[in-house]
Amino acid sequence: MERNPKDDFLKAITDPGILYENAPCGYLSFTANGKIVKINQTLLSWLGYKQSEVIDKLYYTDLISRGGRIYYEMFYMPLLQMQPNVNEINFDFQRIDGSKFPALINSTAFKDSNGSMVAINATVYDITDRKKYERELLEAKKQADAERNKFELLSDLIPEMVFTADASGEINYINKRFTSFFGLPDGSFSAIVILSKIHHRDRFKLFRNWKRAVAIGEEVQIEVRLHNQDGSYKWHLVRALPIKGMDGKIEKWMGSCTDINRHVAAIQHLDEFISVASHELKTPITSLRASLQLMDRLITQQGEPRLMMLMAQSKKSIEKMNSLVDDLLNTGNIKEGQLVLNIRQFDVSEWLDNTCSHVRLAGKYQLHIKCQRGLTVYGDEHRIDQVIVNFVNNAIKYAPLSSDIFISAYRDNGQIIVAVKDNGPGIAPDKVPYVFDRYFRVSHSGAEYSGLGLGLYICAEIIKRHGGRIGVESIIGEGSTFWFSLPES
Ligand code: ADP
Repeated sequence: MERNPKDDFLKAITDPGILYENAPCGYLSFTANGKIVKINQTLLSWLGYKQSEVIDKLYYTDLISRGGRIYYEMFYMPLLQMQPNVNEINFDFQRIDGSKFPALINSTAFKDSNGSMVAINATVYDITDRKKYERELLEAKKQADAERNKFELLSDLIPEMVFTADASGEINYINKRFTSFFGLPDGSFSAIVILSKIHHRDRFKLFRNWKRAVAIGEEVQIEVRLHNQDGSYKWHLVRALPIKGMDGKIEKWMGSCTDINRHVAAIQHLDEFISVASHELKTPITSLRASLQLMDRLITQQGEPRLMMLMAQSKKSIEKMNSLVDDLLNTGNIKEGQLVLNIRQFDVSEWLDNTCSHVRLAGKYQLHIKCQRGLTVYGDEHRIDQVIVNFVNNAIKYAPLSSDIFISAYRDNGQIIVAVKDNGPGIAPDKVPYVFDRYFRVSHSGAEYSGLGLGLYICAEIIKRHGGRIGVESIIGEGSTFWFSLPES
C-alpha cells in the first residue's frame, strides 16, 4: 500500500515516541543516586554515545564536566531535595571523545509519598551558539569601550572643548577642557548644570536650535556665551554633527565649542567704528551731492564736453559712495533694531515692471521678467525693492560676462517667491551657507571685486523682518539663483 505523506506528517507531530526521541532538546531521566535510566536520541547524538552504552551503565556525573560535577554535588542535588524544580542551571556536558559543550538544564524531581526522591527528569539545551553570541557581544562591547577610552584620552589632550550626546540629544560626555572651563572639579555634569552655564539670553536660542537639529538630524552651529569658572561669560561657537550608522540612523552626536570671544569683540569694535564713521560721512556726502547737482546744471548750460564727462564720472562716484555709506548706516540700524518698515499692500507685477531702472537705462544688461499676474504682498515696497536691486547689482558685478538676468515671481504654497538668476561663475558649495552673514565675502579666483560684504546681510534682515525666507542655489560654472519668499497678502 502506498504511504500517504500526510500520515507521516501527523505521526511526526503527534506520536509521543517520535516527539521524545527527536525533540530539539535533550531528555534525560536518572535515579536519586544519579544512574541514567532514560535518554533520548537527540542527547545521545550530541554526546556521541549509543543508548546501550548509557542506560543503567552511566551516571549523570559521567556525562558532565569536572566543574559541572562540583556544581551538581554542591548546589544542584541539594536544591532538588528542597524544591520540585530547578531551572536554568548552566554547566558543560562532556562528549564521549572528551570534548565539551555548554548546556542549560531544567530539572523536575519526583518524590514518593514519604518525600524521598524517586527520579529526576531533565531537559538539556545545547547553548553553544548562545555562548558564541554572548562572547561576540562581549568582544564588541570591549572594542567599543576601548575606542571610547581612546577617544576620551585624545579629546582630553586637545585644547578644544568637546562633547558627545546620544541619539536623542542627551549629553553623555564632556572632556576635561570643558569641566575645567565650567569649574566642575570632579568632572560630574548634568543637562541642568550645562544649561545653567549658558548665558540666560542665549539659553533658549541654543535649546531650540539643538532640539530642532536632533529632530531633523542636521548639523547645528550657534554662537552663545558660556560661563567661565572665573565668573565671566565668553563667546563660543557651538557645533554639533550627527554620526550615522550603516543603516543611516543617527547613533550619536559629536560637538565642539570654540572660543570666539576675541573675534566677537573685534566685530563689536568694527560695528562701533562703522556706526560712527558712517554717520560722520553721511552729512558731507549729502552736501557734496547737492553741490554736484548745481554744478551739473551750470556745466550742461555751458555745453563743454570734457567738463560734462568729468561731471558724469563725479556723479557716478558720489552715488557709489552714497550707496556704500547707506549700506553701513543700514547695518547699524538693523543691528540696533531700528529698521523702520513702511508696510502697505502692493502689486508684485507692477513693482517688478519698474524695478532696476538704472540697469534698463544703461542698456548693457537685459532683464527678463516673468511674473504671475495678480500677486500681491504686504510689505515695505522700497525695502523689498532694495533687495531685488541688490541681487541684480550682484549679478552684474559677479557675473559680468552674462548679459542676461532673469527675474521671476510666482506663488508657491501661500508664499510669493521672487528669484534672480544669473549665468555667472556661481558660488562654491562650502561658501553658500555664509553669503548672508555680515562682512562675509567670497574670493573669486582671478578677479577682484570691491565690496563690504554687507549687501546680502541687509537683504536677509529686510526679508526676515517681513516674516519671509531668503536663500541661494548656486552651481559652480553655471550660475546662481538668489531668491526670497514673502507671505501672500
Ligand atoms: P559684497 O558684494 O559687498 O561682497 P554681498 O553681501 O552683496 O557683499 O555679497 C557677499 C558675497 O556673495 C560676495 O562677496 C560675492 O562673492 C558673493 N555673491 C553675491 N552675489 C553673487 C553672484 N550673483 N554670483 C556670485 N557670487 C555672488
